[in-house]
Amino acid sequence: MADEPARQKVAFLGLGIMGAPMAANLARAGIEVVAWNRTAAKAEQLAGEHETVTVAGSPEEAAAAAGTVITMVPDAPEVEEVLLGDGGAAAGLGGGGLAIDMSTISPTASRAIGGRLGERGIAFLDAPVTGSRPKAEEGTLTIMAGGNAEAFERSRPLFDAMGELVLHMGPQGHGSMVKLINNTLAAVNAAALAEGISVGRQAGLDLDKAMQVVASGSGNSTMRELKSGPMIDADYEPLFKLEHMLKDVRYFLAESREMGVSTGVAETASGLYETADSEGWGTSDFAAVIEAIVTKSGLK
Ligand code: NAP
Repeated sequence: MADEPARQKVAFLGLGIMGAPMAANLARAGIEVVAWNRTAAKAEQLAGEHETVTVAGSPEEAAAAAGTVITMVPDAPEVEEVLLGDGGAAAGLGGGGLAIDMSTISPTASRAIGGRLGERGIAFLDAPVTGSRPKAEEGTLTIMAGGNAEAFERSRPLFDAMGELVLHMGPQGHGSMVKLINNTLAAVNAAALAEGISVGRQAGLDLDKAMQVVASGSGNSTMRELKSGPMIDADYEPLFKLEHMLKDVRYFLAESREMGVSTGVAETASGLYETADSEGWGTSDFAAVIEAIVTKSGLK
């Protein structure tokens, strides 16, 4: 009888709102997952739920056991720390290894990290995702990757286990760039929605009916669909943290400034997210951007 083909193995570093369900979908697809999380209890919980998940004591140990790593942490400093810091994954991967960062960081940071890994013979993809926790749970994320085509093809079975639309965007940084554009469009739209709801509330409208009209009209949008309810009900249970949205818009602005492109609309939206963040809504869902309008209007 022929031997069964060896199972694909991957180390997953960062089991937060997004990372935990993404890693679970890899496990469900029969891929062996070596899990590491800063707060170890989350890795242990995942291993308890899936028999193809094991727990590692450090990113280095996880990477050495798997040969390929996925990172899903907040921002570039954390990606650097888990890949290139003390006990980081790069030491465990060695030459020929592959690192895939699925966090949202800037294209500039992606290229810098890719360069440092490249010096050690490690391939790197920036492969951020769109879709919040529900899509991560369903395995229907959109995944946009930048980096070399061979590394992308190697990663495809992993991406297919987590996503629905999976695209190779081009060279290093192009995944991150399109992700920042998408999120900035969402941030601007959510800020405009928050203004519309605030004006409607002040005018004494029936907001549920008002949103029914918007839903059938030219003002409709994905943000109206996902965030009008939470904004109206002040339900800010985080699906996507406001501090992460602010990070993405700030990176978009930094990249656009660098390229000399005028982006005043994003600049204005950024100010609203900054206000909400400074008032303590950073770890709430970004629907809480409406609180910045309440404050700025003196409506509290
Ligand atoms: P999250 O829930 O805040 O999870 C962050 C993860 O990173 C946790 O596992 C956390 O570990 C870990 N972490 C934080 N600081 C660390 C450090 N210094 N060293 C090592 N690990 C660290 O965030 P998330 O919503 O999953 O988002 C992760 C990334 O995906 C972000 O870049 C975000 O912008 C992006 N993203 C999010 C969404 C969304 O809808 N949520 C959608 C698309 C993209 P602990 O458990 O120990 O805190």
